[in-house]
Amino acid sequence: MTAEEKSKVYNFLKTASSWSYGYPSPTFKEEPAFEDDIEIPEEHEEIKAQEQVQVQPQISQIPAEQNSAEKVPSQGATLESIAAKIALCKNCVLCKARTNTVPGEGVKNPYVMVIGEGPGEDEDKTGRPFVGKAGQLMNMAFQGLGIKRQEVYITNIVKCRPPANRVPEQDEAETCLNYLRNQVILVKPKVIVLLGSTALKNVLGKEYSITASRGKWIEQKGIMYMPTWHPAALLRDENKKIEFWKDLKVVVKFFNKSGVEDEK
Ligand code: SF4
Repeated sequence: MTAEEKSKVYNFLKTASSWSYGYPSPTFKEEPAFEDDIEIPEEHEEIKAQEQVQVQPQISQIPAEQNSAEKVPSQGATLESIAAKIALCKNCVLCKARTNTVPGEGVKNPYVMVIGEGPGEDEDKTGRPFVGKAGQLMNMAFQGLGIKRQEVYITNIVKCRPPANRVPEQDEAETCLNYLRNQVILVKPKVIVLLGSTALKNVLGKEYSITASRGKWIEQKGIMYMPTWHPAALLRDENKKIEFWKDLKVVVKFFNKSGVEDEK
């Protein structure tokens, strides 16, 4: 890590700590003088990445019969038509207490698609994903690593807010999953960042644990999945902030290697 990156992480943690506790922590009173780390040789990094790759079913291959939400026809469907169907959807009980549906937002063909668990209070009010404190924390991390929010596509497993921000029930997630599957087909991301256990288990399978899988690439059909902590968990646990940052940094490093940045 370079001194500049360390400074960004420091300021990321400082802001997150202030949000968590409601006041500036004395721990972050004065920014230390950071120095560059010695870089690990490139070939070692590649060997490590290869060891971490595991092949698993892609979300676009989940059989339709696993989902009971209205099937969105891939032919002729657009992100807007999917959002319109979501706005009218009453296929699970989460429709009852919602203020707005939160289909997701961002660009098509992005380098990164981010999938979280479900909308929270701020998202339910605005109809936009990840606009609360947890989302702002995630945006800061992405920006600190050189990726703007407008350059990614962000959505959730369920598109309506679960009451009191509880974890979506299995039947709710499975009912809603068909929308996500069609979004992935249309968005065509190269990398999908899975935020937290609910996203990981519903996209890649129940056998995955976020604790064991976070920070490790899982590849399938040209899409690389990177599981990491949900940003809401960062607000409760200081240690997870550094791990979250490191996981996103791995994604950005892959991004830079692919040459996608040069095309913009
Ligand atoms: S959570 Fe999904 S399946 Fe349930 S009502 Fe909302 S859009 Fe429909």
